[in-house]
Amino acid sequence: MKFSFARGVSRDSRRWSLWVLMVTLVVALLGILVWLAGRYESSMVQSRLEHDASETVTDIRSELTRNIQTFQALQSSERTPSSWHQSAIELLREHREIMRLEWRNEALEVQAFAETPYRTSVFERLGRSSMQADVSLTCTTARRLSGSAYSTSYFMPQPNGLGLEVMDMCLPIVAAGRITGFTIATYSLQDILSELVGKQLSRGVGLSFTEADGTRLALHGVPAKGSRIYIAQQLLDLPGNTMVVRMESRLGTPALFPNVLTALVTAMSLALIAVLFLFARDMRRRLRVENDLGEALAFRKAMEDSVLTGLRARDLQGRITYVNPAFCKMVGVEAKELLNHSFPSPYWPPELASMYQQRQEIRLAGNNLPREGHESVFMRRDGTRFPVLIMEAPLINAVGKHTGWMSAILDVSEQRRVEELSRASQDRLQATARLAMVGEMASLLSHELNQPLAAISSYATGSLNLLQGETAAEKPAAAPTPPLSEDLQLAMRRIAEQAERAGKVIKSVHDFVRRRDQVREAVQPRALLDAIMPLVSLQARKLGVRVVIEVDESCEPVLCDRTMVEQVLLNLSRNGMQAMQNLPEGAPPGGAAPQPGKVLTLRIRPAASNAHSRWVEFAVIDCGQGIAEDVAERLFTPFFTTKEEGMGLGLSLCRTVIEQHGGFLGFEAAEPQGTIFSFTLPAALAQDAGSERP
Ligand code: ADP
Repeated sequence: MKFSFARGVSRDSRRWSLWVLMVTLVVALLGILVWLAGRYESSMVQSRLEHDASETVTDIRSELTRNIQTFQALQSSERTPSSWHQSAIELLREHREIMRLEWRNEALEVQAFAETPYRTSVFERLGRSSMQADVSLTCTTARRLSGSAYSTSYFMPQPNGLGLEVMDMCLPIVAAGRITGFTIATYSLQDILSELVGKQLSRGVGLSFTEADGTRLALHGVPAKGSRIYIAQQLLDLPGNTMVVRMESRLGTPALFPNVLTALVTAMSLALIAVLFLFARDMRRRLRVENDLGEALAFRKAMEDSVLTGLRARDLQGRITYVNPAFCKMVGVEAKELLNHSFPSPYWPPELASMYQQRQEIRLAGNNLPREGHESVFMRRDGTRFPVLIMEAPLINAVGKHTGWMSAILDVSEQRRVEELSRASQDRLQATARLAMVGEMASLLSHELNQPLAAISSYATGSLNLLQGETAAEKPAAAPTPPLSEDLQLAMRRIAEQAERAGKVIKSVHDFVRRRDQVREAVQPRALLDAIMPLVSLQARKLGVRVVIEVDESCEPVLCDRTMVEQVLLNLSRNGMQAMQNLPEGAPPGGAAPQPGKVLTLRIRPAASNAHSRWVEFAVIDCGQGIAEDVAERLFTPFFTTKEEGMGLGLSLCRTVIEQHGGFLGFEAAEPQGTIFSFTLPAALAQDAGSERP
């Protein structure tokens, strides 16, 4: 977290420094462009000024030359000093720049002179003679040049405290090829500037004559001051004198858009700044989107990492393109080993790989993936196999193209283990139930075997008694009497029968407990009664009960487990006889009945039937004490008994047996007293009748 924060800060600072750098560059570029534009503008002004200066110099020179022509005209004809003076005065009136005109002879003596009418004489204070040396030097030069010559300028103080910088021009007067005199004109430098060129000068421009060292001699216009001053200097080369004409100009208030170039550059810069601004806004928006995307990605990653279901994506060629951590953990293989892995996958058990591959190809080619998934077995890196549930679905990308397959894989080994556990506990439960059954069976056996065993013992006792009687009678007689031997044989046969029956009971009960398919056979109802009759009559005889049998001969054979049904009949008969135990023999209640009181009726008749099934009803009717209400409620509850030696299992067993046959066992009160226990058994259909016992 800290690391990512630091990384975020450094990324932010880098972004900011980039922005600062870019803005600096743009500002520098703009500055340079504006500066260059300014430079260009200055150079334009400078060159214009240079041009003006050179024009000015040309103008001055040409005016001075024109003046020379005028002077020559002044000297052309024969003149008297007075007429010369007259002409000179006129000339001076026209040319304000000339302060004084002189006509001197060959020896430089003044023949005539005229002063400008516009000001007092320049030589008034010092006198003209003070400059005689200069004049002669100039005229010597003029003579040498055979043309006009100019003196160096000199300062003439004026009576008003000021002074004037003046310059003499000497022009030889030539007559018949000989110099006869000189015309000397005295120029005021300042007036040269103001008169000859000053009118064309624009405002803000100062024009001056300077010496080579920069000393200003005369000035016209306002001397320029300030920082943005442009200066142009040109040499005014006159015969005998050279001066510098200096032109100074101050640029007007600096314009914001001095020219098209600057305007263009500025417009471009503004456009650039606008683009930068838009760019920044776009960047911000992108950053926001990037952040949102980052957050969404982080959420998705967290989700994928924390989900417990294994996720796997494959491309159309079956190569793995994505696995989540849960899947890697499940199969114990690193993600980088799985990615781009094609068939056979490293988590396939080698012995099943070929089968899986075929299955995979068929499934993916057919595109018919079961929505509920399919079960498979995967292998961990350590070789252990585990069951998985795989759910696959086509992977459709953003433009709706099918790009591969997405699978969700569930490790179902825990589920299987729980299922196995529950199955085992189910088995244990069943085993317990069976154990309980065995206990029940043991009780039943002991209960059911009571009767045959009692019979066996009574037969055996009888046999013993007979044998004892025979031994006693043998002594007087020589041979045993045949009837006795027959009885003995019968008794022994009965013993054998009952012993066999005891065996059958055990087997039948055993089968019943094991819930095996009991052997069902079609039996004549009468045959069932016949089978139990010896035992019933034995007990009836003991208890003084008369047994009445009512069998409807139209009854069809019934389909049943013969031994068990016999046991049911036997049980019910015994219960009935026991219920009548306390009745006085031969004295039936109500008195009117012809038969004695202890009567047990065994009745068999057809029961209600329909097209699909026919039933036979068996009833055991006693005329005992009947069943009290509280006893009736619990009659079929196992181990419920009212008898001292009873086990309370007889009726519950009987009901189970009858219900297993599809029949119904019930009871009702008999009239005038006693109880009717009755049950139904299905009649055997025609095809079952063949297996009827003879
Ligand atoms: P057991 O005969 O061992 O007692 P049974 O389940 O056969 O067990 O009978 C349960 C009880 O039902 C008997 O104790 C008896 O009280 C009552 N009972 C059964 N049959 C009759 C009957 N015919 N008349 C009166 N009571 C009966």
